[in-house]
Amino acid sequence: MKRVLSGMQSSGQLTIGNYIGALRNFVNLQHLHRCYFMVVDMHAITVPQDPAALKEQTESIASLYIAAGLDPNKASIFLQSHVPAHAELGWIMTTLTYMGELERMTQFKDKSAGKESVGAGLFTYPSLMAADILLYNADLIPVGDDQKQHLELTRDLANRFNNRFGEFFTMPEPYMPEIGARIMSLDDASKKMSKSSPNPGSYIAMLDEPAVIRKKLSRAVTDSGREVKYDPQNKPEVSNLISIYSHFANMSVAEIEAKYDGQGYGPFKKDLAEVVVAVLEPIQERYREIRKSGEIFDILKKGAAEASELANETLLEVKKRMGFVLPS
Ligand code: ATP
Ligand code: MG
Repeated sequence: MKRVLSGMQSSGQLTIGNYIGALRNFVNLQHLHRCYFMVVDMHAITVPQDPAALKEQTESIASLYIAAGLDPNKASIFLQSHVPAHAELGWIMTTLTYMGELERMTQFKDKSAGKESVGAGLFTYPSLMAADILLYNADLIPVGDDQKQHLELTRDLANRFNNRFGEFFTMPEPYMPEIGARIMSLDDASKKMSKSSPNPGSYIAMLDEPAVIRKKLSRAVTDSGREVKYDPQNKPEVSNLISIYSHFANMSVAEIEAKYDGQGYGPFKKDLAEVVVAVLEPIQERYREIRKSGEIFDILKKGAAEASELANETLLEVKKRMGFVLPS
């Protein structure tokens, strides 16, 4: 059995990109491995946050985890800020990270572009992410393709620590879907879909009403052709929609291409909305029940206690190896 760890930032509402790239795999992996899934609220504050929104989004994402099928008796589900070892190992990892490594991170370049003042936390974010993973000595990290670079850095930091202080950290591997590891924006297929986008038309939130989903998908940008063909190089918009269809309908790309052969984009986009709604509607119903019951707080308490046990043990060993005087 392997150890699995991942998380989502409470920086907005989960999108179908988060679902396809990561959350679906969380649900699958919980049956096979020892899993730790958190809401990374401390990462969410690396961009300016409204306190009420942060609170609501954090509770909402944790509840959506459960609504989408995560089982608190199978996986530990918790908030990053409830396990202080993350912040502590995060600091230690920051001291092991080189400025040049952080400067090369494309997420930092994207998120800081055009901004006048950028918090230092956005720059050092990858060091905290490395700590998130290494605290659990996780083997498998279910993430979207955009996190590959941060995961590479995590491996470099694990190696650096092991070389300096003795073999200790496991090398984490990314775990991604074959198709849909990077779902693109509905309004611009050169950008990934992101929950923090200022344009709600660029994404489908998992909690969007069916009517909103239908509208957003009918407005999704496509090329001027009419062939429903998976060709990310030449037809990035339609290929993105095919990836989404494939996940929500559990159909292969070839089956989808055959189904819409000669029919143009209209019927394809219409059906796409229905397959997405068919999966999200029951999740939304469960979500509303979970929010009403207040059960999420007990789940998060139990998850934090389970996670802390392993995280504190790792942190103590790290500090011992680095020469910290441990409390007696
Ligand atoms: P933000 O805009 O605040 O960064 P985000 O949508 O990128 O939000 P994150 O919380 O940063 O979401 O990432 C959560 C998980 O979802 C990560 O594993 C990430 O790789 C994955 N993910 C994010 N966007 C996509 C996408 N467009 N396609 C596939 N996976 C994605
Ligand atoms: Mg992101």
